[in-house]
Amino acid sequence: MFNKRSSFLLTFLLISLIAILTGCGSENVAKNNTEDTKTKETTQPAESKTTENGGEVNIYTARHYDVDQELYDMFTKETGIKVNVVEGKAPELIERLKREGESTPADLFVTVDGGILNSAKIEGILQPVVSDVVDKQVPSDLRDKENHWIGLSTRARVIVYAKDRVNPSDLSTYEDLASDKWRGKVAVRSSTNLYNQSLLASFVDIMGEKEAEDWAKGLVANLAREPEGGDRDQAKAIVSGVGDVALMNTYYVGQLAASEDAEEVKVAEKIGVFFPNQQTSGTHINISGAGLVKHSQNKDNAVKLLEFLTASESQSKISQANFEFPVNSEATLPELLESWGSFKHQNVDFAKYGELNPKAVEIANKVGWK
Ligand code: FE
Repeated sequence: MFNKRSSFLLTFLLISLIAILTGCGSENVAKNNTEDTKTKETTQPAESKTTENGGEVNIYTARHYDVDQELYDMFTKETGIKVNVVEGKAPELIERLKREGESTPADLFVTVDGGILNSAKIEGILQPVVSDVVDKQVPSDLRDKENHWIGLSTRARVIVYAKDRVNPSDLSTYEDLASDKWRGKVAVRSSTNLYNQSLLASFVDIMGEKEAEDWAKGLVANLAREPEGGDRDQAKAIVSGVGDVALMNTYYVGQLAASEDAEEVKVAEKIGVFFPNQQTSGTHINISGAGLVKHSQNKDNAVKLLEFLTASESQSKISQANFEFPVNSEATLPELLESWGSFKHQNVDFAKYGELNPKAVEIANKVGWK
C-alpha cells in the first residue's frame, strides 16, 4: 500500500540521497574525516553471530571518521566483543535494513542528522535502547523520546567571518545575514546539502514558513557568489576576499586548524567564529547518533557499545579528534571548543528536520538557492 506517509518518506530519502551525493560528497576532505562519502565494508559481518570470545556487534554506519574505528578497536580490546563495520550512505543503509528485515546482521545504525535518525525510526527499523548508563550519560534532549536512537555528538552551524574585515559586534543573527547590510558579502554552500536543508527546516519550525522563505530570499540576494564547494570552501572564499561572512559547521573550523595543509591552517587563523541568535532562538545545532536495530541479534553487545561510546572517555576522544561537541557533559573539550565558551542552541525537536525537509527544499528551490 503506497500511502501518504510512505510517499513522504520516499521523497525525504530521495532528497537526502541527492543532498548527500551532491553535498558532503563534493567536500574536499582530509583523510577519512568525512561522512557519507564512501561505501565500503571494512569487515564483512560474519555468518555466525558469536565468536569464541565475547561475541560480536555489527554496525551499519554513514559516519566515516578515523576516531570511530579507533573507539571500536578500544571497545574490542576492553570487552573481547568483535566490531564489524559496514560503511555506506545513510539512505542506502536504511533501504538495506528495510530489505533485510529480520535477517539483517546489523545491530546498530549510525548516521548524521536528526532528520535521518528520525526517518529510520519512522521506517520501523529501530527499537528502544534500555540502559540506565546511557540515560545517565546522554541528556534526554540528545536522544530520541523513546530511545530508538542515542546522540553521539553534536555540531553547530555558525557564522564565520573574515577577521580583517568584519567586527564581530556587527554580527547578531542568521536573520541579519539576509539584510541589505550584507549585500554581496555572504558565502554559503548549495541548498542541496542536508546541513542547509536542516537549517532551513529549523527556521520553518521556529519562524514559520513565510518568514523562513523571506530569510532564504534575502540570503540568496546577498550571496557573494553562486554556491559552490563544501563548508570549508566557504571559509577559504572569505579569506581570499570573496564575501565577508559564511555559514559553516563548527567541526570544520577545527579540522582546518588541525590540517596538515599549511594553507588550511592559515585560513583557520584568519576567520572568527560567531554563534548567532544568542539573544533569540539560539544557534542551530544538528546531531549524529546511533539507533538500535529492531532485529538486532546481538542486542546486549550493541547496548554495551552504546554505553562505551557515550562514556566520558570516548566522548572526549570524539571531540578531541573531530572537534564535534560531546553529548556527555563530563567529557573534556579540545582547547578550541573550550575557547568558544558555552552557547545557547535552538530548542527544536530533531525529528522536525526530517518532517520539514520537503518544505525546506521547496523554499530553497522557490527562492533560487542553488
Ligand atoms: Fe560534514
